[in-house]
Amino acid sequence: MDKLNNHPYGELLASYSAGSLPLSQALCISAHLEHCDSCARKLQRLNRVGTELMQQLTPSKASDDLKNRLLDRLDSLEDETPKHESARVDPSIPRCLRQFVDSSYDDLRWKWVSADIRSVELCRDSNGARVELLKIKPGGSAKTHTHLGDEYTVILEGSFSDEAGLYRKGDFIVRDRHDQHTPVATRDRECICLAVTEGPIQFTGPISRLLNPFLRRGYA
Ligand SMILES: [Zn+2]
Repeated sequence: MDKLNNHPYGELLASYSAGSLPLSQALCISAHLEHCDSCARKLQRLNRVGTELMQQLTPSKASDDLKNRLLDRLDSLEDETPKHESARVDPSIPRCLRQFVDSSYDDLRWKWVSADIRSVELCRDSNGARVELLKIKPGGSAKTHTHLGDEYTVILEGSFSDEAGLYRKGDFIVRDRHDQHTPVATRDRECICLAVTEGPIQFTGPISRLLNPFLRRGYA
C-alpha cells in the first residue's frame, strides 16, 4: 500500500473503535482502513485498550427486564439475513460497499449532476446524512462550494486536487461549513469517491449557485 497523507483524526478513529459513530461515517472509515496500514494498526491498538478497559469494569447485576430485552434483541438479529454479496463483485470495491454493488461501479444507476459529475445515492443514515458515490470525469470540476454540514470523502478510484492539495486513492478528507473548495479530478482518469454529506453543499459561483435550492431538498 502507498503511504497516504490524509487520515481520519484520532477522535474519529477512537469513536469507530468504540462503535459509537453514525453508520455513514463508519462506512467512510471502513473504506479508508482498506487502503491504510497505518490507521489499521492504530485501530488495533485502540481496540486492545478498549478491551482492557472493559475487563477492568466491575460487573453489576442485570435486571430480569434488561436480560429479557437483550435476549429478544439477539433473537431478532438472528432473523436479519445479511444482503447477499455477489460473487462477481469487482475486488477493487471496498468490502464495506459491496452490499450496494452487483458487480462493478459501471452497473450502478448514475444520475446526472453536472456536465462533469454523476452521482448515485447508496443509502440514508438515521441522522439524515446522505451516503453516495460521486464520479468526476477526467479533468472535471465539482465547482466552488461550501457546506451546510460536515462532508466526509474517501477516494475510491483516481485522484483529485483542491486548494489544499492533491488527494489519492484511499485518502480520507473532512470539510465543514467553514471550508470553501473547488475539487478538480486529475486528467489521467475519472475519479470515484465515497461521499457523506450531513447537509447540502452550496455552490458559490454566479451561475452554479442557482442550483442551491435543489440541493437542499431531501435533507432533514
Ligand atoms: Zn489512514
